[in-house]
Amino acid sequence: MMLPKQQRHQGIGMTSPRTRERLVERLRDKGIHDEQVLRAIATTPRHVFVDEALSTRAYEDTALPIGMGQTISQPYIVAYMTQELLAGREKLDKVLEVGTGSGYQSAVLAGLVNKVFSLERIEPLLKEARRRFHRVGLHNVYTRHANGAEGWQTQAPFDAIIITAAGPRIPPELLAQLAEGGRLVAPVERGDGQRLILVSRDDAGEYQEKDLGTVTFVPLLEGLS
Ligand code: SAH
Repeated sequence: MMLPKQQRHQGIGMTSPRTRERLVERLRDKGIHDEQVLRAIATTPRHVFVDEALSTRAYEDTALPIGMGQTISQPYIVAYMTQELLAGREKLDKVLEVGTGSGYQSAVLAGLVNKVFSLERIEPLLKEARRRFHRVGLHNVYTRHANGAEGWQTQAPFDAIIITAAGPRIPPELLAQLAEGGRLVAPVERGDGQRLILVSRDDAGEYQEKDLGTVTFVPLLEGLS
């Protein structure tokens, strides 16, 4: 018997809906209040986005290795960044992500916006992420093997942009591809740490920056591999 795709990825034991609900409660306790975002976390099978050997740890609130020296972000950070990006706005049309990695952040966003465009510089990671989108039946995530710092000019402007790797500054091309009224979140190297920066672009096209606190991300790198 063929189960609908969502049920097929429901999981048992450590990957069961109950385990996921516990993660959602944890995120709620930590201050995530956007119900839509919490629901997206509850319905996105994170265990599909990590190596099978790590699947029993998929609903712990921690970052996990995904190979090639990269990590899948901590669920709290995924939820927090998503909440800041959406900011209770009407359903967004286009969101750009830099750093597809495992594909988990894209999958969470895919349930909340019309289209997700995601760029990744490491081809094997991107290929694996594409297989996962297919496996869970996501058809509104568009990806490219490219340097995300250049953005995706032909699809711009974006209602929201999320960068999931930390660079010395927010690439100016990405700021230019942000729509008026749009929001961008990105980890940025500051001093000897990283800060999560929110940039809002107002209807007059002006940019405003807000510091959302300390984070730890892998580096934003140039060139493809
Ligand atoms: N959003 C991912 C997080 C992955 S870690 C997830 O949910 O799993 C960050 C990713 O950014 C890594 O896969 C890394 O290869 C990628 N990355 C780093 N610099 C990049 C760049 N300039 N362009 C595109 N991807 C980049």
